[in-house]
Amino acid sequence: MLDVPQRARTGDLPAETRVAALVREAHARYAASQDGTVADYIPILGEADPRLFGLSLTEVDGTVHHAGDADVAFSVQSISKAFVLALVCESIGHEQVHRTVGVNNTGLPFSSVIALELNEGSPMNPMVNAGAIATTALMPGETAEQKWRAVQEGLSRFAGRPLEIDQQVLHSEIASNHRNQGISELLTSYGRLRGQPEEMVEIYTRQCSLLVTADDLAVMGATLADGGVNPRTRQQVVSPEVCRDTLSVLAACGMYERSGEWLFEIGVPAKSGVSGGIVAIAPGKGALGAFSPRLDRAGTSVRGQRACAFLSRSLGLNLFASRIHPPKGSDIDE
Ligand code: GLU
Repeated sequence: MLDVPQRARTGDLPAETRVAALVREAHARYAASQDGTVADYIPILGEADPRLFGLSLTEVDGTVHHAGDADVAFSVQSISKAFVLALVCESIGHEQVHRTVGVNNTGLPFSSVIALELNEGSPMNPMVNAGAIATTALMPGETAEQKWRAVQEGLSRFAGRPLEIDQQVLHSEIASNHRNQGISELLTSYGRLRGQPEEMVEIYTRQCSLLVTADDLAVMGATLADGGVNPRTRQQVVSPEVCRDTLSVLAACGMYERSGEWLFEIGVPAKSGVSGGIVAIAPGKGALGAFSPRLDRAGTSVRGQRACAFLSRSLGLNLFASRIHPPKGSDIDE
């Protein structure tokens, strides 16, 4: 019998002291940048302090390196979509997710209604709002309240601590999320949404309002990087197969309509959110959490993605690279 290794080889991170120094350098390099604008289509997000900038890297063995405002809490927003997808994959499996939600990029903005109409009501993937609302509706539970509990508890297991809602963010978004309500009604008209549209949008909006820090994002991402084992609690949150499926969707669709550019420049599965968070996952190694509220036109943190690009190159995280490439002098465009 051949001795079959259990772990796919993805290479190793440099020594801990080197990783720590590079995380600090990434923060110092981009700290002064003022490029990008803070999102304000959800009114309260416009009040975020644009100076905040935190970076965190958690290795799969639980070692944490951070710099700047890595412990400042912000609403997780779209990054929740990645972890709800993992929970739904765990509950209903690969085939069902493929069939009912889809895994292909739309090439259109995250809140596009046209994408739905162009694809006969298919939400296309769980990272755009249509697909995310449809995915949340597939969470286990008979009632909306049970589904919400499953979301909150599931995301808390990824973070390794109880996550709570920012009530101000929740109320601000509920009062202004007409587009998401329209998307849910449209999904219902195509027979693509399980449950009451108003209730499903509310659960989705609550999941987006959960408070996390860059440190939490790194732990949540590192759980996906290590076959579902949380480096903080050592709890098995989801299976290794679910991590693989979730990361493939993030690679294709996680960074909005610029997912191709992200993969080309940075080369790891990732998800960003409009409050300025990014989680970037290096399978087998660990994950980066970043937070900085100024965004590019697609809705991704400018300083966060520059720091991820720098760290991906200097730490050798790019999945498509067979050796470490020196960081580029140039930056990601705003
Ligand atoms: N709650 C936000 C929305 O649905 C999330 C958007 C995002 O972070 O991309 O519009």
